[in-house]
Amino acid sequence: MKFIFAPALLRLGSPLLFKEFLVLVRRGVEEILSKAVDSVSKAAEQLGKDAEVAFPGTVYGLPLIYALTGRKLGSLESLRGELVSTKLLAMKKDELTSLYNSGLAALMAMEVSEAVNFSTVKAYPKPYVGFISDTTFRELSLSLADGTVPGIAVLTGRASGEEMHSLLGELKDRNILVLLAGPIIKGVKEAGYELGLESKLVPLGESYPSIVYAANLLVRTPLMFGGVEAGRREEILSYMKHRVPAFMILLRELSEVTAPIIAGFAGLGVPVITDADIPEIPRLTIKVDDYMKSVEVGCEVKGIKYKRVVKPPIPVDYGPSFEGERIRKENMYVEFGGAKTEAFELLRIRKPGEVSDGHIELVGPDLEELAEGSAAPLGIIVDLAGEGVERDLEAVLERRIHQFLNRCKGLMHIGSRDEIWIRISKEAAKAGLKIRNIGDILYTMYHSTFPRIVEKVQVSVITDPIQVSKMIGEARRLYMERDKKVKELTEEEVDAFYGCTLCQSFAPTHVCVITPERVSLCGATSWLDAKISYKLDPSGPNFIVLKGRCLDPVKGEWTGVNETVLDKSHGSTKRVYLHSIFGFPHTSCGCFEAIAFYIPEVDGIGVVHRGFKEATVNGMTFSTMAGFCGGGKQVEGFLGIGVNYLRSKKFLVADGGFNRVVWMTSELKERVKESIPRDLYDKIATEKDASSIRDLQVFLREAAHPVVQRWDKKA
Ligand code: SF4
Repeated sequence: MKFIFAPALLRLGSPLLFKEFLVLVRRGVEEILSKAVDSVSKAAEQLGKDAEVAFPGTVYGLPLIYALTGRKLGSLESLRGELVSTKLLAMKKDELTSLYNSGLAALMAMEVSEAVNFSTVKAYPKPYVGFISDTTFRELSLSLADGTVPGIAVLTGRASGEEMHSLLGELKDRNILVLLAGPIIKGVKEAGYELGLESKLVPLGESYPSIVYAANLLVRTPLMFGGVEAGRREEILSYMKHRVPAFMILLRELSEVTAPIIAGFAGLGVPVITDADIPEIPRLTIKVDDYMKSVEVGCEVKGIKYKRVVKPPIPVDYGPSFEGERIRKENMYVEFGGAKTEAFELLRIRKPGEVSDGHIELVGPDLEELAEGSAAPLGIIVDLAGEGVERDLEAVLERRIHQFLNRCKGLMHIGSRDEIWIRISKEAAKAGLKIRNIGDILYTMYHSTFPRIVEKVQVSVITDPIQVSKMIGEARRLYMERDKKVKELTEEEVDAFYGCTLCQSFAPTHVCVITPERVSLCGATSWLDAKISYKLDPSGPNFIVLKGRCLDPVKGEWTGVNETVLDKSHGSTKRVYLHSIFGFPHTSCGCFEAIAFYIPEVDGIGVVHRGFKEATVNGMTFSTMAGFCGGGKQVEGFLGIGVNYLRSKKFLVADGGFNRVVWMTSELKERVKESIPRDLYDKIATEKDASSIRDLQVFLREAAHPVVQRWDKKA
């Protein structure tokens, strides 16, 4: 979208008057609306007016429009109608309301244009993320719920690499999730930051309209977590204003494109902090003279509380702002692993008597004894002990080494286990960083991050080549042992399962029961993840589910599960079979990754993944079936599942497991190929083999699928 400056309105040095700003906003809205109308018309010519338009991975249609109006749009024709209403919205009279409404209208029109782009051009090119799915948002929201990530900043405008370096430092120090849109991304790249969900710097798109992906993400919060019904506009906006910990920072550019965006976010209850000359609206548009103050102001206005990160005793800076820092070869003092030398990291849970708290040893030469530019072997062994820390948490705790080391300025850590790659920069070496400091970092961070469960920590850092070779073998043996144990963890063996009710805000009676053999429906939480999350914060999103007595080992019915589900579903679900689609299946929320569905005509089960847009073999789409079984209901014959459940030995075991699966989407079948018994793989049809029940019957008989014997027995 081209953007037009309004020089007559931009008087240097003095903020625009409210009326002038409103004029700028209105002009921008007209332009944005007319572009949206054009894009819908062009797409209708190309695809037909009844063509469906949708974002992938959401049950909320075009989420911003859905949240504010309650209308779930589908066809291009419906988008055209929506734009007419949007135009009317922008024309409301009272000035402040008009400003907000105009801004909201602009964002809604941008959402229409982006949705049309999605159905014609598809996804954004990498590294841009574009639309963020419900599942990804749910994963992110777990960190927001437990306070690890205290808030979200939407960052746009224009800034140099140097400016971005300082500003992102402020955001990263507070561990705030940053959504980036527009030309500012260039500055972020220049500042040398890694972009992506993992580094919490999410590039939505390089154009300004891509900022609507931030709006349509934030507005899903009241729908997904606040129990607010779509279309209850005032409640949605009030929730956004008071409960959603998000603010926007706009640097520098005030134009006919950014002015409506400012008005739109302010209208949504997301305060805009900017160094551009805009009129101030208390707590919603705030002008700062120094852009470096914008993060502090944003946090203050939204009441975002954050913990400063603990700093280990090392001679260089430390904090989340250094996560994702890349050290190029020319800036590298020394490197370890990365397929050039042997290197590994290992975390072991020991008995308290076997760990000497605070003992940090370096076995082999330190940095000053290694030649600049060289590659050396490395081993890191962390031994932990504590009353509540058990061996099955080793893998989850070991994965934190990556984050803890990456926060050290001048130290780059990639990978895990015996595939790590660590680089130390020349600058860090010059500042006095030693290899031994790896031990200081890990000692401090394990104690400060897990004070509830970790009592003793000792660290061995090994650079002696003979010792590394010796210990890497031991590490590999332990990885294998651990993997085998995790794979073999069964529901019968563990003392308890875990549960989650985060989805109750939109699925009021849904209760996820998470076992070692049944991942959560959203796929974001395994049994180990839930266990550690519960141990760290027993009043957090995950709770313990005591198993009680096993009533049916095949269907997976337990007295403790029934009792907990009855309680947590507010009395609506009395019994649950963990491994059957019939009788009393697990409830389904709305953010499941796939749906298993019974096909009575062939007495078999189909599985469709979210993202498969066409009709399945029973003539229904994923979203139609999601409508049947979502919302926390227990619906016989339809079951929302996490994709990893297909890899479980207990996958619908009471119904025959894969012996009963007759149809899958080809993409899903490929993804879980290794878990489908070899002799069955070719007997399961996909959309390429059968698109109707008739086709399916023919396919199954020709392939001699096991369900055919059931037909013959019945006949
Ligand atoms: S209730 Fe289940 S599906 Fe929903 S967020 Fe929790 S684990 Fe995921």
